[in-house]
Amino acid sequence: MSTDAARYKFTSDNTAPICPEAWAALQEANNNEAPSYGDDRWTARVCERVREIFETDCEVFFVFNGTAANALALAQVCQSFHSVICHERSHIQSDECGAPEFFTNGSKLLLVGGANGKIDLVEAEAIMAKQGELHSHKPRAISITQATELGTVYSRDEIAAIGEFARHWNLLVHMDGARFANAIATLDCAPKEITWQVDVGFLCFGGTKNGVGAGELIVFFKKELAHEFDYRVKQAGQLASKMRFLAAPWMALLTDDVWLRNARQANAAARKLADRLRNEVKIDIAFPVESNAVFIRVPENLVRDLRARGWHFYKFIEPDVYRLMCAWSVTDNDIAEFVADLRGLATSV
Ligand SMILES: *Cc1c(COP(=O)(O)O)cnc(C)c1O
Repeated sequence: MSTDAARYKFTSDNTAPICPEAWAALQEANNNEAPSYGDDRWTARVCERVREIFETDCEVFFVFNGTAANALALAQVCQSFHSVICHERSHIQSDECGAPEFFTNGSKLLLVGGANGKIDLVEAEAIMAKQGELHSHKPRAISITQATELGTVYSRDEIAAIGEFARHWNLLVHMDGARFANAIATLDCAPKEITWQVDVGFLCFGGTKNGVGAGELIVFFKKELAHEFDYRVKQAGQLASKMRFLAAPWMALLTDDVWLRNARQANAAARKLADRLRNEVKIDIAFPVESNAVFIRVPENLVRDLRARGWHFYKFIEPDVYRLMCAWSVTDNDIAEFVADLRGLATSV
């Protein structure tokens, strides 16, 4: 079989281009000189707009990427002897090269299982019961990912239960929202309903996977947590000197609900892809498709043949679960091409 040109449509939301609105905003911001280090009008407007969207007074900071957002946010609330409860499949555990542990100077991650990428509170409870004294460490935060690493979405009630658990154990609730937009698009609720109203203390709000080139926000709903956070960001090398080039594209996302439109588009593409794979090729879909990821269970020979056709995608769980990610830029045509290739290969074996 010949090797076709590489096709990155379903590899990651990061293989997608910058969305047109963000690109136009970048160009507009490039027209003139402007104040540096966040003293520009775009940065001020993004912070204001975030307060409007969340309908609360909150503190907003920019960093370059999601790993820095999570690690610095957790470092802000944790001493080195603290610990953070998180799901065993969470990005902070498996995809950040130990950055949360590094930036906290040693806070331990306490791993909890749970179906579909969501924390099982019974397991979390059992872990808390074991931490009761000086010789272990002191749990300080519980971190949830919304939407989860397995493409599912916590309901408002599920987050409220996490919030209640956190209140009971005196923990702060951190939300890794690298795909927060996708979760809001699915739940069709006000952002406040799944954040500060249900005890989420601070949120890493992702823009990169939603359509900007770089830049994530850290939003502290509990404003007192943000004390001197600007110094932490600067020390970590995460304060953008030409901040307007992060902020202007973000402003474009937050104008006219482009962030939600991009997320709805991505989610709809994933639903369509999953439906077609299930119905037309009888592919087993491993997890509920509630955001923009589709996890498929396929034999290795089929994967090899798809890769020979140029399709790039990652194995996620051994032995046979692979992730197909739909960004805002995935079209019906892309889906049709992939389904046709898979159908052709599946019937030829
Ligand atoms: C992509 C992602 C991040 C951020 O990753 P970076 O590559 O550091 O930007 C954080 N959390 C989750 C769940 C992600 O999927």
